[in-house]
Amino acid sequence: MSSPVLRLESVRKVFGTHVVLDDVDLDVAPHTVTVLIGASGSGKSTLLRCANLLETVDDGAIWLDGQEITDPRVDADDVRKQIGVVFQAYNLFPHLSVLDNITLAPRRVHGVSRRVAEDRARALLDRLGLAGKADDYPDRLSGGQQQRVAIVRALATDPKLLLLDEITAALDPELVGEVLEVVRGLKDDGMTMVIATHEMGFAREVADQVCFLADGRVHERGTSAEVFGSPQQERTKTFLRRIT
Ligand code: ADP
Ligand code: MG
Repeated sequence: MSSPVLRLESVRKVFGTHVVLDDVDLDVAPHTVTVLIGASGSGKSTLLRCANLLETVDDGAIWLDGQEITDPRVDADDVRKQIGVVFQAYNLFPHLSVLDNITLAPRRVHGVSRRVAEDRARALLDRLGLAGKADDYPDRLSGGQQQRVAIVRALATDPKLLLLDEITAALDPELVGEVLEVVRGLKDDGMTMVIATHEMGFAREVADQVCFLADGRVHERGTSAEVFGSPQQERTKTFLRRIT
């Protein structure tokens, strides 16, 4: 296997006395999709937040593209520049146009010129079916469009890795499809992604690797066919029966 884009080794995260991630190992190969499934509170968001250094780990180590990012000497901003993140709530800046939302980080953080940033933003908007929305403000867009803009914004800095945390959970059901369609497109383009989701049909379809988290542990992992098609652990079976 080529060296992983993301590697977690024995990661432990504790809040107070609550062990939220317990001895978590994970390898994410380039151009693959890893899906995290598990009940609410099982640690999916915390895992993604640790990968993006929004949380510090209490033990273990994390590598991004061969660099140990949990090394205290590492500049967290430098790491975050290499990772795109989209959360459940779209978090677009309401006072900025779509184009300005997207070009803010490339221009301010990455030092890209306005022209280059805007060209790239327009190309991405076009690709994600949002051509014509560049000058609109977020409140003019539907939830699905806003979330697609948030994805464009995450892609605008050309990240090595995209982390998606329940990106359809806040959407009206009829808007979920258009956002998942975008993620399918990114997979086809070879984007490396780690996705936390409750959309099991979608997870089954896009995942190269599935990790079932329970109580902060990777309780079961495998290919989509393995975990969804023939889960080995009782707890995985129970979870999948409940949710599907
Ligand atoms: P999931 O995303 O799978 O629903 P989370 O990673 O959000 O799970 O949460 C895992 C556990 O960690 C939950 O019990 C949650 O209450 C707890 N937790 C998450 N963030 C914090 C925090 N900042 N302080 C204390 N507990 C937290
Ligand atoms: Mg979560």
